[in-house]
Amino acid sequence: MSPDAGELRGLSATTTVVGVVGDPVRHSLSPRLHNAAFAELGLDWVSVGFPVAAGRLEDALIGMRALGIRGLSVTMPHKEDAAAAVDRRSGRADRLRSVNCITNDDGVLTGDSTDGQGFVDALRHDGRTAPEDLRCLVVGAGGAARSVVLALAEHGARQVVVVNRTATRAAEAAALAGGVGRVGTLADLPDADLVVDATPAGMAGGPEGLWDRASLDALRPGQVVVDLVYAPARTPLLDAAADRGAVAMNGLGMLVHQAARQLATWTGTEPPVAAMWRSVAPAPGSYA
Ligand code: NAP
Repeated sequence: MSPDAGELRGLSATTTVVGVVGDPVRHSLSPRLHNAAFAELGLDWVSVGFPVAAGRLEDALIGMRALGIRGLSVTMPHKEDAAAAVDRRSGRADRLRSVNCITNDDGVLTGDSTDGQGFVDALRHDGRTAPEDLRCLVVGAGGAARSVVLALAEHGARQVVVVNRTATRAAEAAALAGGVGRVGTLADLPDADLVVDATPAGMAGGPEGLWDRASLDALRPGQVVVDLVYAPARTPLLDAAADRGAVAMNGLGMLVHQAARQLATWTGTEPPVAAMWRSVAPAPGSYA
């Protein structure tokens, strides 16, 4: 009998399985990032995508326990359901009511949220900047914005101003930053060292967003401007920021580093971040 493709890649009955659950999950980069890390580390592990329809996460977690799946990365639309369904949550996941990483220890499922940590790791990557003492402005108040707001405050930001279309959600997100958080407007831009767009405005075919010409013109040298969108790699906000002399950065770094945090939790191993970066091949000049 000739070996099948799995055997050729070293997969066998003893391979440890992790995966990503979401809907849709087809375009998720999590398996690529995690498989690149397993190959680099020489681990007999594999990551695959599990399409799980909205409302079916609890069923998926029964399967996770029964099949001994070691870890799951959780993406839309399951992050809130995952926070409710796991047996234990990290303090961060508790505060955010959101889980993007589940670890299975002999049937006990622990949920964590690695997005905010991944964002801070990406900021620090290559010495770009560090959150300590920064004046930050975050546009958006959804799941991604909330994790960024909490992480910035936890890592010593001096101020975290939240700007959002819906005022009540802005106030809830700003409260995550405690004493350094407040609700603001784009008129606060000139005073910010770090500007983060955590809305889908930069996505291809995405919504209009809050940015107008005057706000874009307020971007300046000395600022770091991050758009959490990574597909497309260049967004109008990042082009405007670069044109005005600011450092522009897309969301690919956050994606890589939140996956690296997940890998570290599941394997107990230092993640091979450089190999994970290589696996998503950021194009030159793409603000990654
Ligand atoms: P979400 O929970 O749905 O939140 C979306 C946010 O965008 C909300 O604050 C919403 O405002 C705002 N928004 C949506 N449409 C808008 C419009 N037309 N004008 C103004 N504001 C608008 O989504 P999310 O999960 O936080 O994701 C947000 C973005 O971050 C997405 O593009 C996603 O791809 C990206 N993301 C990237 C990473 C990464 O690793 N790089 C991780 C997670 C997410 P309201 O509160 O008023 O509705």
